[in-house]
Amino acid sequence: MITATKEVVMYKTREEALRIQKLKTAARVRKYNKTHPEERKAQKKIDAERAKARYYLRRIKFLELKGGKCVYCGYSRNQRALSFHHLHSKDYDVSAMMSLREDAILKELEKCVILCLNCHKEVHFPHGLK
Ligand SMILES: [Zn+2]
Repeated sequence: MITATKEVVMYKTREEALRIQKLKTAARVRKYNKTHPEERKAQKKIDAERAKARYYLRRIKFLELKGGKCVYCGYSRNQRALSFHHLHSKDYDVSAMMSLREDAILKELEKCVILCLNCHKEVHFPHGLK
């Protein structure tokens, strides 16, 4: 609940004040983005590239931590052709966890080995069927 007099706005709680401050900031950002579309577009591209780089750097780090090569055939030439294979129970897809905390990823990695994509498919589809 807000009570406003001419220029003085009083908020009932600190949380409410913070929420409204956040809304004002978001509105300013939206307004700025609307009046500077090219800048916004360029920033979005930079953000996406940064996110992609961060994803692959983390993925490479965890692949290397698990030996960096396929445990069946030894393949290691292209990291994109390597995958995390769960030996027993699977809680999460490791590659989908790259934005999460490291300890959560390491916990999931304990259940995994590295396989190349060919060996991974052979493990999951031994008879070539669905
Ligand atoms: Zn392999």
